[in-house]
Amino acid sequence: QASDSLVSQTRLPKIEEPVTASTLVEVLCFHAATHPERCHLKVWQSDTEEQPLTYGALHQAALTIAQGLLEHGLEPGDRVAVMLVTKPDFFEVFFGILYAGGVPVPLYPPLRQSQVEDHLRRQAGILKRAEATILIVGDELHQVGVLLFGLVSSLRDIKAVIDLKAFGHIEMPVPADPKATALIQFTSGSTGDPKGVVLSHANLLANIRGMGEALEVNSTDVFVSWLPLYHDMGLIGAWLGSLYFGVFAFIMPPLAFLADPSRWLRAISRVRGTLSVAPNFAFELCCKNVRDEDMTGVDLSSLRLMINGAEPVSPLTIDRFSKRFECYGFKPEVMTPVYGLAENSVGLAFPPVGRGPVIDHIDRVALARRGAVIPAAPDDPTPLSIVACGRPLTGHQIRIVDDAGHELPERMQGRLQFKGPSATAGYFRDQAKTAALFSGEWIETGDLAYIGHGDVYITGRVKDIIIKAGRNIYPHEIEELVGQLPGVRKGCVAAIASTDSQSGTEQLVLVVETRLTESPALTELSNKITEVCSASLDVPLDIIKFVPPRAIPKTSSGKIRRAATKALFEAGALAAKPKQLWLQLVAL
Ligand code: ATP
Ligand code: MG
Repeated sequence: QASDSLVSQTRLPKIEEPVTASTLVEVLCFHAATHPERCHLKVWQSDTEEQPLTYGALHQAALTIAQGLLEHGLEPGDRVAVMLVTKPDFFEVFFGILYAGGVPVPLYPPLRQSQVEDHLRRQAGILKRAEATILIVGDELHQVGVLLFGLVSSLRDIKAVIDLKAFGHIEMPVPADPKATALIQFTSGSTGDPKGVVLSHANLLANIRGMGEALEVNSTDVFVSWLPLYHDMGLIGAWLGSLYFGVFAFIMPPLAFLADPSRWLRAISRVRGTLSVAPNFAFELCCKNVRDEDMTGVDLSSLRLMINGAEPVSPLTIDRFSKRFECYGFKPEVMTPVYGLAENSVGLAFPPVGRGPVIDHIDRVALARRGAVIPAAPDDPTPLSIVACGRPLTGHQIRIVDDAGHELPERMQGRLQFKGPSATAGYFRDQAKTAALFSGEWIETGDLAYIGHGDVYITGRVKDIIIKAGRNIYPHEIEELVGQLPGVRKGCVAAIASTDSQSGTEQLVLVVETRLTESPALTELSNKITEVCSASLDVPLDIIKFVPPRAIPKTSSGKIRRAATKALFEAGALAAKPKQLWLQLVAL
C-alpha cells in the first residue's frame, strides 16, 4: 500500500511551459514560481522513510540560507565549500550560496577507509586551491571541519547549516550573470591532485540541455540516483539535470547503496524509475552482492535508460549485469554507455536512445604497433573489446589527434580533444594548468580514443598507458580480467609500470588486493593471474604484488589512482597503516 502511494506521487504531470532561464538561479525561480508544490526530489532516509522537497520549499530555504551567508559577510564570487552528507540540507545550501551570489565548492565528506590521511590532505588541497572563505559542514563532521579550518588559511568561517538559518530571508536572489562562475567542480584526481574546473551558468545549462536532448528527457521521467553530490555525475548529471527539466528525483546516499546495492534496484522498482546512472563498478557490485531474495517483487521494466559512465565501461560487465537482471525486467538495450569529464561540465558523448550497447572487437597488435583500428579476426584468441560511447552532444565537437597535434581519420587512435558550449574556461586561478589544458581552442582530455562510424571509443588515459617492448598495454583491461578471479577483491587491482632501479628497465607491475595471507594459496593465485594474463591478453607480468584490502589508493568517486599507487609501490609503502590520529578522527 505504502509503495503504491509513493508510485502515484512520483508520476508527476507533464510541465507544459518550457523552462526559460539563463542561470541556475533562474531555473529554480522558474519552478518555484510556476509550481511551488510540485515535488522536486525525495531523499532516502531508511528503507521505509524518505524526506520530500518541493520546488517552493527549496526556494524558500535557499533564500533563508542566502540571508545567513550575507549576514556572515559573504561577498559576491566568494567560494563557499560544502561538506554535507546526502540530506535535503545539501540542496538548500547549494542554492543558498548561489542565491547570495557565492560560488559553491562541493567537498566529499571523509570516508571510513584506510587512506583517511590522504583524503584529508586532498580536501585541504581542494579548499586551498579554491581559496574558499567559508566552510559549511554537517553536525556529524564538525571536528573534521575544525581540523581543515586549521589547515587552510583562506577560510575565515566554519558554519553549521543551522547557524545560517537564524536571520530571516532575503526577498529575492542576488541576480547572476550567465557568464559568471556557478560552480567550481573538482576533478576526481585519478591522475594527480583534483583540479578546480570553473563552470559558468551558461556552461552548466548548455550541458544540461544537451544531455536532455540526447537522452530525450521530459518532465514525466523519474530519476533514481545514489551518486555522490560532490562529483559531477551526481551533482550536475543526476540532480541539476532533474531540477532543470522538472523531473522527479529519488536520491540515495552513496553509503546506503554501497552497504546494500539492492537498495538501488529496489528504489528504481518502487518509484518506477525511468532514468538512472552509475559508473561501471556499481554494476559489478550488483552482480556480486545482490541476492535473489533481495529482489523479491522487483521490476526494472520501467527503466528507459541505464547510463554507465565516468570510468571505463566493460563489455563483460554489461553482459553480466544484463543477464543477471533480465529476469527482473531489465531490458539489455537500456544500458547506455556514455563518456564525459568535469572539464565539459559532465557529459560529452551519448549514443542514440534505445540503441543498446555497441562493442568493437579489434586487433590488439595493429592498435599497439600503428594505432590502427582493425577488426579482430574471427579466430583471434585475444581481441581487444571496446564499448562505443556515442556522439558528441549537439553544438559540441570531438576530434582525435596524433602526437604532433594533427587530426586523425576515423579508426585511428590518438588523443581526444573537444570544444563546445559546456566547456570550461579553465582551472580556478591556475594559469599553468589552464594553459596546458588548451591546444588552441580545443581542450585536451588526457584520454586516448578513436572514432568509428561517428561513435567515440575510449581506449585509455594517456598518462596510464604502459608501453612495454614497443607495445601498448591498457591497464584497465588487465585490472578487469584479474579482478574476476576468486580471491582477488573486485575493482581493487592496479596495473602500473615501474622502472627497475637496478637494471633501468620498465617492469609491468600488478598490485592486487586480496584477503588471502597464506603462501600456498597466494602462490596458486599468482600462477592463476599469470596464466589468465598471458592467455587472454598475451601480456607478460613482471611483478605481482599482493596487498591487503584498501591498500590501493582510489579517488573519492572510486577510481583507481595509478600514479599514486606507483609512488607508494616504489616507496615500499603500499600497505602502510594510517596514523592513529586520523583513525580517531574518522571514528567520530
Ligand atoms: P583527474 O582529471 O583529476 O585525473 P578524472 O579525469 O578521473 O580525474 P573526472 O573528470 O571525474 O576526473 O573523470 C573524467 C575521466 O573519466 C575521463 O577523462 C576519462 O578518463 C574517464 N571516463 C569517463 N567516462 C568514460 C568512459 N565511458 N570510458 C572510459 N573512461 C571514461
Ligand atoms: Mg581528468
